[in-house]
Amino acid sequence: MANFRGHITTSALLGIGYGVGATFGFGFTPMQGALAGCLTAVGGLLPDLDLEHSTPSRELFALTAAVAPLVLMPRLLVWGGSFEAAMVSAVLIYLVVRYFGASIVGMLTVHRGMFHSIPTMFIVAELVFLGYRSDELEVRLLMAGAVAAGFLSHLILDELFSVQFNGIRVKLAKSAGSALKFVGSSMVANLTTYVILCALTYGVLIESGWMESPVPEPTGGLFQQVERATETMIR
Ligand SMILES: [Zn+2]
Repeated sequence: MANFRGHITTSALLGIGYGVGATFGFGFTPMQGALAGCLTAVGGLLPDLDLEHSTPSRELFALTAAVAPLVLMPRLLVWGGSFEAAMVSAVLIYLVVRYFGASIVGMLTVHRGMFHSIPTMFIVAELVFLGYRSDELEVRLLMAGAVAAGFLSHLILDELFSVQFNGIRVKLAKSAGSALKFVGSSMVANLTTYVILCALTYGVLIESGWMESPVPEPTGGLFQQVERATETMIR
C-alpha cells in the first residue's frame, strides 16, 4: 500500500498538470485551473477515508469541517432565517464533521472495500458535478474530471504497490486487485454503491440536458434549485 505521502505527492503533481493543462490548453481561467488542481490533489486522498485513524482521514475531516460551513454560509443564512441561527448551524456542522465524521464513515466502510473502486470514483465526480455552482457545463465537467483524476491516481498507485519484486520474481501482495475494481466482496456494499451511482447518474444526465427531465425543472445547479425552493418556502 502506498503511504499518505506517496498519494499526496502523486495527486498534487497530477493536480498541477491538470490545472496548467486546463488553463493553457483548454482556455479555462487560471482560477478555475487552480481550483481544479486542488480538487485533483484532494481526490487522491479520498479513497483512504475508509481508514478511520489514518492521516488522510484526520486531515480531510478537519479540512472539510472548516471549509463546509464557509461554503454553506450563504445557504445557512437563508435556511436559518437569522445570522445567529446560521452561526449556530455552522458551529454544529464543524463539530459533527470534525469529531464524528471519521467514526461515521468508519462504521459504514471497511478498508479496501467499495471506497476503493471505480464506481465510487464516478460517484465522487458526479457529486462534484451536481454540487458545483456554474452555469457553464464545461466548468462543471472540468471540476468533476479533476476529482476523478486524483481518485484514479490513488487506485492505480495502490495497485502498483501490491506488486512486489524481490529481485528474482514478481510477487503479488494479498491486496492486489482490491483497489482498481468494479465490485467488492460484500454484496450489500456493492448494491448500495451501484444504487447511489445510478441515482446520481440520472441526476447528472438531467442536469446536463443530455436527458429530458420528466417534470419541467427550473434551470441551474442543484444548489440553486434547493436555494430557490427554500426562499419560496420562507416567503
Ligand atoms: Zn488506498
